[in-house]
Amino acid sequence: MKTLEMTDKEKTQQVWAKRPIVISGPCSAETEEQVLATAQRLAATGKVDALRAGIWKPRTKPGMFEGIGAKGLPWLQAAKKATGLPTAVEVATAKQVEAALTFDVDILWIGARTTVNPFSVQEVADALRGVDVPVLVKNPINPDLELWGGGVERIARAGIKDIGLIHRGFSSYGNTQFRNAPMWHLAIEMKLRFPDLPIINDPSHICGNRDGLFDVAQKAIDLDYDGVMIESHIDPDNAWSDAKQQVTPERLKEMLEAIVWRKESKDNSELQGGLEKLRQQINHLDDEMLQIISQRMKIADKIGQYKKENNLTILQTNRWQEILDKMMAKGEKLGLSKDFIMKYLDAVHLESINHQKNIMDAQ
Ligand code: PEP
Ligand code: MN
Repeated sequence: MKTLEMTDKEKTQQVWAKRPIVISGPCSAETEEQVLATAQRLAATGKVDALRAGIWKPRTKPGMFEGIGAKGLPWLQAAKKATGLPTAVEVATAKQVEAALTFDVDILWIGARTTVNPFSVQEVADALRGVDVPVLVKNPINPDLELWGGGVERIARAGIKDIGLIHRGFSSYGNTQFRNAPMWHLAIEMKLRFPDLPIINDPSHICGNRDGLFDVAQKAIDLDYDGVMIESHIDPDNAWSDAKQQVTPERLKEMLEAIVWRKESKDNSELQGGLEKLRQQINHLDDEMLQIISQRMKIADKIGQYKKENNLTILQTNRWQEILDKMMAKGEKLGLSKDFIMKYLDAVHLESINHQKNIMDAQ
């Protein structure tokens, strides 16, 4: 009997179109056995669509494991043959693109440390000219949407038609609960700028540990992401890179089973009706908030006038500290996070100072 086998390209297209798309595999390919065993155990979960593995690893410090290099590419080929899972690899140079394509890697991604550098992204883009392969662009390390969008545009101009985004969080100074702060609002803004591109969340590099993975993945799905990329390893504690954040394929399966896979309900009119009511309430409150803020700024104008007439400075530090302390305490009681109150007050304060400055500067 003749079997209808799909080509690699057809299989990849099927995976690219699937929602949610789940990509998993080790941070780094380490040995042939490890790649093969990970792929087989991932395939056995029945929940993974593509196999990722880092071949060239950009590491923060020299002397760390910098990837097995092109030697690992045939291992991925063998893993695909054994499991049927399309493969995905990070590329940062033209040479890496060529090597990956020579060994039939199905999906390429541009890492966070590459997206920050337009020279590198352009080099990768030039190497991709005339090639039909899906490319995922990770957000740059720093919270700069122009740079992320610029990376996407460079790849698009090279003629790549299947482009996607990976949100892996942003580097921020000081300790936070995350290895890379998600800054969800930036990813949401990116989704609005590029509504036709799928966006995948990478909880592994956001969290940097195993504990937070589920919550971040669930949040991404709640925010209507198109899928997740999560690192997995057959022996996470002994992984050669990112040991703290990797999970076994079996743990990954449990996690994926626990996630509530929500979808945008476009056709259920009853649900939409309920949602519509809540949205109207929100619109109403947003209108009111704008009115109130505008009233507040009118008072700031009056204060500016008063300070001008009496030759006082605009910024009176003690007064502002007093407001901050009071509002932080109040806001917390009202169920608002400290982080939000800080951002909100900073924004209001800045606007208020600008209003006062305009009054002071007016002739
Ligand atoms: C990775 O996916 O293993 C990786 C290096 O990620 P990032 O570019 O997000 O740091
Ligand atoms: Mn990693």
